[in-house]
Amino acid sequence: MQVKFIPPKAERCVFFDRDGIVNTSPGAERYVLCWAEFHLLPEFVEALRVVRAHGYQAVIVTNQRAVARGLVSVAVLKAMHRRLRDLLRKRYSLDLLDVVYCPHDAGECECRKPAPGMLQAMARKHNLDLAASWMVGDAETDIEAGRRAGCRTIRVNGDEATSKADWRVAAMKDLPDLLEKVL
Ligand SMILES: [Mg+2]
Repeated sequence: MQVKFIPPKAERCVFFDRDGIVNTSPGAERYVLCWAEFHLLPEFVEALRVVRAHGYQAVIVTNQRAVARGLVSVAVLKAMHRRLRDLLRKRYSLDLLDVVYCPHDAGECECRKPAPGMLQAMARKHNLDLAASWMVGDAETDIEAGRRAGCRTIRVNGDEATSKADWRVAAMKDLPDLLEKVL
């Protein structure tokens, strides 16, 4: 009998930026410092439902230089992400494959977006097919990170004509419908 090794097929994934996509943006140069300040967007829940229904994994990819600035500890940040995942699972029966954050300040690492390091690390860890995956964000740095990782990209709130994203939606409320169309 011949035994053939069949490598597991890489999975497709939608990477989501966090602030402004998953939860209400705290504003430029401001940070979500505790769970009480973390306001989950219902539009994200709908977007995640579409993503999972289409058989894609979902990962949150977030720059959190509040850690480097000493405003929030890694323990508190991780606890917030744990509560988010619990909430999504228990209340909405939706799961995230992972949540990854960059704790560094600008210019001191390979992972802070617009660098693609976090997406590439997730692809290695979970066997994800980056070329068949997507990055969704509300900043052009998210789009650049996605492009550099080889993903297709969706910009939310990107009214500037300069966005390099493959697709753009005016607001989070339009994201579920677009994902339904393109995934
Ligand atoms: Mg954002």
